[in-house]
Amino acid sequence: MNRTKRIVILGAGESGTGSAVLAQKMGFVVFLSDKGIIKEKYKKELAEKNIEFEEGHHSLDKILNADEVIKSPGIAEKTDIIQKIIERNIPVINELEFAARFTKAKKICITGTNGKTTTTMLIFHMLKKAGLNVGLGGNVGVSFARQVAHENYDYYVLEVSSFQLDGMFEFKAEVAILCNITPDHLDRYEYDINKYIDSKFRIAQNQTKDDFFIYCADDALTQSSLSKFDINAKMIPFTIQQIVNEGAYKENEQLNIKYNNQEFHMYINELALVGQHNTYNSMAAGIVGHIYGLRKDLIRESLQDFENVEHRLEFVAKVGGIEFINDSKATNVNSAWYALECTDAPMIWIAGGQDKGNDYTILKPLVREKVKFIVCLGKDNRKIHEAFMNDVDMIVNTTSAKEAVQIAYRFAAKGDKVLLSPACASFDLFENYEDRGRQFKKAVRDL
Ligand code: ADP
Repeated sequence: MNRTKRIVILGAGESGTGSAVLAQKMGFVVFLSDKGIIKEKYKKELAEKNIEFEEGHHSLDKILNADEVIKSPGIAEKTDIIQKIIERNIPVINELEFAARFTKAKKICITGTNGKTTTTMLIFHMLKKAGLNVGLGGNVGVSFARQVAHENYDYYVLEVSSFQLDGMFEFKAEVAILCNITPDHLDRYEYDINKYIDSKFRIAQNQTKDDFFIYCADDALTQSSLSKFDINAKMIPFTIQQIVNEGAYKENEQLNIKYNNQEFHMYINELALVGQHNTYNSMAAGIVGHIYGLRKDLIRESLQDFENVEHRLEFVAKVGGIEFINDSKATNVNSAWYALECTDAPMIWIAGGQDKGNDYTILKPLVREKVKFIVCLGKDNRKIHEAFMNDVDMIVNTTSAKEAVQIAYRFAAKGDKVLLSPACASFDLFENYEDRGRQFKKAVRDL
């Protein structure tokens, strides 16, 4: 006997609630379960739409009779509930996999360890400016599923994390961008970098020769892994270390793109986003502009007038001749490296937080060259002290953004920069990196 497919959704954040809305619209029987407390606005929405849900626990009987489970990327595969679902052979997918079944829109998907949000926003800005009917989703803003339910976009620019990729099987990106791969989140990958690399390369799965795979040719792990994967899409590199016949490269302080017998040039110092890492992000976006045949002046203008995303090397204020920069989103060593690299000395570096098994070795030369002293902002700062005690004159411990800003300000001299680029997660003292960044900015404004 035919019965309506039963979809169970685990986790009622933006992606879970969006999936529930879409699943209901598509005529499925929907049940949503969240072990924690669901935000009021989502509860209200679910109740209004008559979508059955629970919070505070998981009811096994209601979950294990699912035909398919949509899991929030925040729930690790090794958790009890997921293991039980897998034992029953119930497919576990994620929101993007689910929603993609119900749209014909072209999907431009951005993954990588660092640079995802910036590159996603930059591409969205460019396509929107070009007048395309485009939506923005994935890890940012309104969930993809919710937009598939309510909107009718021709294109989506989607930020995709490795946790999301792990729940994607049939999903196909018409344009896939892999920004870079450096060790991060390894706790979710049994501390095996190869598992993390496999996850990132899923961005290219199901692609055909009519699709595009854009990657950083300077990134060691990407480069060394390319041959391990069957990539059917057209591969387009970006690089600042070599000149390529097709793709984006740097020469004479210019960003150049060669694609389809077209050539594009603009000066690096015209880019809205500063720093080597952002040259990469701008290159990736510029390639997408070329793939979709956008006018060169429009591509140039978009790369020039993009306004940076909050908490990413964000200029906060100049107080008493001292410049304060908020890079709270730098939650790993690699992203802090780029911030230290592109910020002028002399600098006071505010770092620390929840350690993720960090190895600070790659930062030492930059710290020695540029940093006057370090202000630790975290509960346990031993690793930072051990790593840098011979590289700077002073390391101070603080436990609030206010205290960190005040100490930095007291010891800084006119012309110095104060950079918050923690290289660590924020959860020891803050709700999340946004909260850390906002408290930092408030403390600066209160000086
Ligand atoms: P993600 O969404 O991948 O976390 P973001 O665009 O939010 O990336 O940037 C996170 C941090 O990484 C910021 O502090 C930023 O300065 C740094 N960053 C941005 N782009 C890159 C890149 N291409 N390579 C390395 N670091 C980057």
